[in-house]
Amino acid sequence: MITEEIIHRLKNIMDSEDRILMEKADLVSYSYDASFGTYFPDLVLQPISTEEVVGIVKLANEFTIPIYPRGTGTSLSGGPLPVHGGIVLDFSRWSQTLIIDAADTIAIVSPGVITADIDSEAKKHGLMYPPDPSSSHVSTIGGNLAENAGGPRGLKYGVTKDYVLGLEVVTPEGEVIRTGGRTIKNVTGYDLTKLIVGSEGTLGIITEAILQLIPRPLSTQTIMVIFDDIVDAGHAISSVLTSGILPSKMEIMDQASIIAVEEYQPIGLPVDVDAMILIELDGHPLAIKDESEIVKRVCLEVGARDVEIAKDDAAASKLWKARKLVSPAIVRKKPTKISEDATIPRSKIPEMFKRLQEIKAKYEIDLVVFGHAGDGNLHPNIITNKQDKEEMKRVEKAVEEIFATAIELGGTLSGEHGIGTMKAPFMVMELGEAGVDMMKRIKMAWDPNNILNPGKIFAEKGQRLVLVDE
Ligand SMILES: Cc1cc2nc3c(=O)[nH]c(=O)nc-3n(C[C@H](O)[C@H](O)[C@H](O)COP(=O)(O)OP(=O)(O)OC[C@H]3O[C@@H](n4cnc5c(N)ncnc54)[C@H](O)[C@@H]3O)c2cc1C
Repeated sequence: MITEEIIHRLKNIMDSEDRILMEKADLVSYSYDASFGTYFPDLVLQPISTEEVVGIVKLANEFTIPIYPRGTGTSLSGGPLPVHGGIVLDFSRWSQTLIIDAADTIAIVSPGVITADIDSEAKKHGLMYPPDPSSSHVSTIGGNLAENAGGPRGLKYGVTKDYVLGLEVVTPEGEVIRTGGRTIKNVTGYDLTKLIVGSEGTLGIITEAILQLIPRPLSTQTIMVIFDDIVDAGHAISSVLTSGILPSKMEIMDQASIIAVEEYQPIGLPVDVDAMILIELDGHPLAIKDESEIVKRVCLEVGARDVEIAKDDAAASKLWKARKLVSPAIVRKKPTKISEDATIPRSKIPEMFKRLQEIKAKYEIDLVVFGHAGDGNLHPNIITNKQDKEEMKRVEKAVEEIFATAIELGGTLSGEHGIGTMKAPFMVMELGEAGVDMMKRIKMAWDPNNILNPGKIFAEKGQRLVLVDE
């Protein structure tokens, strides 16, 4: 319960009352993210300094008020949802610091900086910030760090955790700690940086990050490969990766996603194919010219119908635009999109495609598959209508079967979207009771009052996947 006394004290902590939001319209705006479920906070605070965060967290401990950190709310797993009410800490206004130190090849950023802006600034210095989630133009670096976000370039360059050198963190009890630093190497003590990255806002609040930048490749080449059978596309991925070439991106779109894009914003993609893979090579122009020919040969050998090497940057941008358009295009069919990111070992990609086709037929659902195929991180998306309760029951079962299939094939519940509320009931299925218990012990040691993002990652008593309002 937020009392008059608490509000009075918050007004003393926050430099400006404009960043304390209590109107109903504001609370509605913070009650949802890009996943499922609606939960209202009691109030929203928009801190823009570490001192403000410390004051808020100490007060929250004194009165046992839950705190829910939030970037721009693009989470697909329920990460920032205030499931127990309390305070949402909105970091989207704290974007003031974006320093590129080219000599040290690092960027220093505040939590609300939009991720794509880091790479744009780095580019001015001949450098690159590789992590590129498809939401990078709208999501914050704080949210990316908390979710350990990945993107197409993850195939060659890895994900967010691989580029974090140091963090400033406000602990769940309101202490300020620094992990890591500005150096490329650092083995002093436990690696708390890696513990915080991917902890989904449950172990600490990130108030500053030091990120590693790398030299920007001299050039890129995009290749479109089309297939009459999506299973062949799965084989092509492994064949390219064992041909001595590591592309920077390998993204797949199935026929349903290609048709959806063409109906939304026609680009000229072939709609009569079962799947297409978009490949990007990067490096020295002469090297990628040779590599393009090898990729072409390898793909044709495993049954590709055709391979088209983009003539110029404009043609390449058009193809990558098609990939970006998949999400907005598929929701035009039906209003509800359930985006999964169950991830499997690369060798199991063809088998996973087969199993997804079976699940689609068994539950009579609209299932579209696209994603970061090169690293096994597929995005089976179910397009449905949450008002249709009968269909949603079938969708629930299909989602559970997708999770079970990924784990059976040696994969994981989530390659990048995180657990949040959506996948919490399935954690034991992947990690076992003892594995989940070890994680709970870490949470209890860091956050004894269970202040920070409670109700996430760990299932609450009786919690199960519910996509239908009961
Ligand atoms: C169209 C679309 C495409 C997407 N594509 C990708 C993709 O390719 N790859 C991918 O990985 N994800 C993708 N996502 C998911 C989402 O964009 C990422 O999870 C992103 O990292 C969330 O960032 P955000 O700023 O929106 O954070 P939010 O959604 O607001 O929060 C996410 C989590 O971060 C925590 N958090 C936020 N800020 C802080 C902080 N300062 N300190 C501690 N915890 C904090 C929150 O509590 C929450 O648990 C996509 C989402 C959409 C809608």
